[in-house]
Amino acid sequence: MEQLYADYVVIGSGPAGQKAAIQAVKLGKSVIIIEGGPHLGGASLNSGTIPSKSLREAILDLTGFYQRSFYAQENLSSKISINDLNFRLNKILEEQRKMLLHQFEKNNIKVIYGNARFIDTHRIIVDDSLEIKAEYFLIATGSKPRNPIYVPFDQKKVLDSTRLLSIDHLPKTLIVLGGGIIGSEYASFFAALGTEVTVVDKRGQLLPLLDEEIGMHLQKALSTIGLKMLGHQEPERIIKNEDGVEVLFKDGTSLKAGMLLYALGREANVNSLDIEKVGISVDRRGYIPVNALFQTVVPHIYAAGDVIGGPSLASTSMEQGRLAARHAFGAKTHHFPTFYPIGIYTIPEISSCGYTEEELKKLGFNYAIGRAYYYEIARNQISGNDPGMFKILFHADTLEILGIHIIGRAATEVIHIGQVAMSFNAKVDYFIDQVFNYPTYAEGYRIAALNGINKVKHKR
Ligand SMILES: Cc1cc2nc3c(=O)[nH]c(=O)nc-3n(C[C@H](O)[C@H](O)[C@H](O)COP(=O)(O)OP(=O)(O)OC[C@H]3O[C@@H](n4cnc5c(N)ncnc54)[C@H](O)[C@@H]3O)c2cc1C
Repeated sequence: MEQLYADYVVIGSGPAGQKAAIQAVKLGKSVIIIEGGPHLGGASLNSGTIPSKSLREAILDLTGFYQRSFYAQENLSSKISINDLNFRLNKILEEQRKMLLHQFEKNNIKVIYGNARFIDTHRIIVDDSLEIKAEYFLIATGSKPRNPIYVPFDQKKVLDSTRLLSIDHLPKTLIVLGGGIIGSEYASFFAALGTEVTVVDKRGQLLPLLDEEIGMHLQKALSTIGLKMLGHQEPERIIKNEDGVEVLFKDGTSLKAGMLLYALGREANVNSLDIEKVGISVDRRGYIPVNALFQTVVPHIYAAGDVIGGPSLASTSMEQGRLAARHAFGAKTHHFPTFYPIGIYTIPEISSCGYTEEELKKLGFNYAIGRAYYYEIARNQISGNDPGMFKILFHADTLEILGIHIIGRAATEVIHIGQVAMSFNAKVDYFIDQVFNYPTYAEGYRIAALNGINKVKHKR
C-alpha cells in the first residue's frame, strides 16, 4: 500500500477543512486534505450555502421581485424554468470550485479524493489503497440531510435539500416539512417564484430562534408572498402518487402537493471514519464532542464544523477550522467568539447578533429598544420598498448594545456594522455621533438609535 506523511491531515474540504488547511500551511506545515465527495468545497459549495443563495439571487432577479412596487409587471414567474435557475447556479459553482482548487494549489495543499478512516491515532487509510501518517488531524466531515426510513425519498417528488438541486421542473405546489432555517429559506424562494407553498411544523411558528418581534415581521412578510404555515402538525406517513405527494398527519388530516421538501434536520458524517478505533465516540445526538479548543478526547485529533454540532453554519465552521489549526501548531489563538451574526436568507432576509428581547427579559436586564422601519429609510424606497425593520436592544442605564436584529433587504450585510460596534463594547449613541453614507440601509442604525435614546433620555 502506498504511504504518505504530512504534519497535518484534514478530512473534508468544506469551510472548516479549507480554512484549517490554509492556516496550517501559513504556519509552515505540510498539509494533505482528503475529500470523499466528487467535488471540493463540502456541503457549503455543492449542496448547501452557495447553491441555495445562488438560486435565491436568480429568483429575485428573474421575477423582478424588487421592481414590483414600481412597475406594473406581467407575472414573470410562469416564464421561469428550472434551466434558467440552474444556468446561473452552474456558472457560480464552476467558478467557486475553480477558485478553491487554485487556492489549494497556490498554498501547496495536497488534495486526495477518497474516503478516509482511522486505523490508529496517527494513521488513516484512504479508500483502502493509501496510508497517511500525520502529527495532527482535523475531522471536518460535515453533515448530510437526515433521511428517516419512513420517508420515500427520490429525485423528483420527495426531496431533501440536496436532492432538491436535481429537480427537472418547478412545482406548482410544494409542502415543506420543517420551519427551521433551510425549510424557511427554500419555502420563501419558491413562494417568491409563484409556487403555492405550505410549511408544516410541529411548532406554531417559523424559526422560533428569532427575536419574537422579528419572527412576527417575517411571518407577515411571507404571507404577503402567499406562503402558508401549518403549525402544530406532525407527519405520520408520506405517500407518493401519480400527481405528487400526500402527507398524512398524526391528527388524521392530510395535505397534498406536487413536491415535498423534507427539511427536518441533518446528521453528522461520522459513520465511515472508524473513530471508535481511536477512542472517540459521538454524543447522544451523533456529533463529535470537542473542548473549547476543538480537541477531541485524543488531543492531537481535532474536529470542527457541522460534525461537532451547532451552530452548523459555513461562517462559524470556517472560524472553528482556523482556530483549531492555530491551536494545533502553537500559534496565538482565542476562544470562539460569544457573539457572531446569524444570517437567514429568507425573502426578506434576516440577521441578528447578540441577545433577543426574550433572552434579556429572562436574564432580568434593564433594557430599552430602538426601532427603525424600512419605510423610514430613503435607500429602501429607492430600491423598491421592502418591508423590514432594525431593532436595537441596549442597556437602559449604560447604553451598551445588547442585541441587534434586522429583517429586510441587505440585513445580512449591514449586521456587521452592529457586530463590530458590539465587539468594541460600543454604546448605542455611537450610531448617532458618526456620519454614515447616505442614502444607505445602514441609516437604519441611526434612526433606531435615535428612537431608542429618545425613550430613555428623560431618565438620564
Ligand atoms: C441548504 C443549506 C443552506 C445553507 N445555507 C447557509 C448559509 O446561508 N450560510 C451559512 O453560513 N451556512 C449555511 N449552511 C450551512 C453550511 O453549509 C454548513 O454549516 C457547512 O457546509 C459546514 O461546513 P463543514 O466544513 O463542517 O462541512 P461540509 O461543508 O459538510 O463538508 C464536509 C466534507 O467532508 C467530506 N467527507 C465526509 N466524510 C468524509 C470521509 N470519511 N473522508 C473524506 N471526506 C469526507 C464530505 O464529502 C464533504 O465534502 C447551509 C446548509 C444547507 C444544507
